[in-house]
Amino acid sequence: METPATMFTNGEITVTYEPKKCINAEKCAKGLSNVFRTTVIPWIDLNGAPTHKIMTQVKKCPSGALNYCRNKD
Ligand code: SF4
Repeated sequence: METPATMFTNGEITVTYEPKKCINAEKCAKGLSNVFRTTVIPWIDLNGAPTHKIMTQVKKCPSGALNYCRNKD
């Protein structure tokens, strides 16, 4: 069974996570551990860091499992 992508938002941006693409490199958790948490569910907490830092970290995801888009006003 395919696992659907999950979505998280902080009002400014929406971050999506596609588990089937994730290669578990933990680059996200190591880079921004207050947002990308390995031991808590839900594992992404967009209140854990400023939006610009989250966007920078999402861009570093090596597999493309993480993506973001800016929310419309
Ligand atoms: S950085 Fe991307 S590939 Fe690595 S654990 Fe996070 S979501 Fe998965």
